[in-house]
Amino acid sequence: MIEPAEDSAVLTPQERGRNLRLRLVGAIGEFLVEHDLEITPHNLAIAHSAVSGLNPRLMRKIARQRESGVAVTQDWLDTVTASEAKEEDKAVEQLIGQLEDTIAQFKRSTHTAHTASREYGDALAEHVDKLDKVPDAGDMISELATYARAMLKRSRRAEAELRQSEEEAANLRHTLDRARRDAEIDFLTGLPNRRAFEAELRRNYDEARSSGEPLCLAFCDIDHFKSVNDTHGHDAGDRVICVVAKTLSEISGHRCHIARHGGEEFVMLFRGSHQHAAFEALDEARAALAARKLVNRRNKLPFGQITFSGGIADVFAYATPNEALAAADEALYRAKEGGRNRIELAVPQVQAKAA
Ligand code: GH3
Ligand code: MG
Ligand code: MG
Repeated sequence: MIEPAEDSAVLTPQERGRNLRLRLVGAIGEFLVEHDLEITPHNLAIAHSAVSGLNPRLMRKIARQRESGVAVTQDWLDTVTASEAKEEDKAVEQLIGQLEDTIAQFKRSTHTAHTASREYGDALAEHVDKLDKVPDAGDMISELATYARAMLKRSRRAEAELRQSEEEAANLRHTLDRARRDAEIDFLTGLPNRRAFEAELRRNYDEARSSGEPLCLAFCDIDHFKSVNDTHGHDAGDRVICVVAKTLSEISGHRCHIARHGGEEFVMLFRGSHQHAAFEALDEARAALAARKLVNRRNKLPFGQITFSGGIADVFAYATPNEALAAADEALYRAKEGGRNRIELAVPQVQAKAA
């Protein structure tokens, strides 16, 4: 056990820093133990942002929950942090929107100023030309011509600067487009991420609803993935995630979208497919992966059979897309309970009661 150094005026800055870090680690540990939370990377990150002051909003929510005497449970924390992530996404979306408006406005005004300055410069150049051609011009005319030439030079310089500003605005626009695309791509698999999926779900939901097409969604989760990490290490685990991503990508196309939902979980959208058609496509991918003999290319050790389980829901059998997501998740849970390496269909409540 590492003990903090005695607080005193003689502590070196290093010792003081070390004490602060030890206190933070202690507070994180206390938070997790006090609320009976598992020591997972996810919970450690939450505890860190709650006790370090990094996330004051979360700190306030936890304090309010404690004051009202209600327990801070895993479910409560998961719900709160998921809604926080959504709020953050909304804030980023809003900022990007504002930046886009500013760039568009800047582009419009620099373009107008550039055009005006060029027209002014051209008119001035014409006058200078005429003044230069005046035969036997007196002192006053020559002086006027000199001023006009100086003005012309300045006006051309301003014109060049405005042209450059216009180019910069266009570059900024491209950078923003790229940043927006990057923010929607999962860096490990290159698949769209959860944020991109949510937008895709909204778009497909609206379109399929108005055209009357069926729409299904699926949740997939790699089986016993923890043991892959434990046996082969995190990097090898990452490569396994990529293999599963590739297997699922093979059935995706313009009517079937796939995204990495997080960790070793994937989510898919089947546009124009009823549950059974979606089942057939996903089950084929499942069987293809299960039949492979994957080997860890770093040390040639076999990974053993790598499989995933899935749950599929018919989106329009539920009141909202979120309810359909929850139903697919529940079906996935059944697939896990039923032995894994299988796909289950969600059964809407009404149907389940009637049966
Ligand atoms: P189950 O069959 O019930 O799904 O068992 P599981 O072992 O897969 O259990 P669970 O889904 O709870 O475990 C997921 C593990 O995935 C825990 C976490 O450490 C690991 N993980 C999450 N994200 C990543 C990642 O990006 N890379 C690697 N290598 N591991 C990850
Ligand atoms: Mg999982
Ligand atoms: Mg898993």
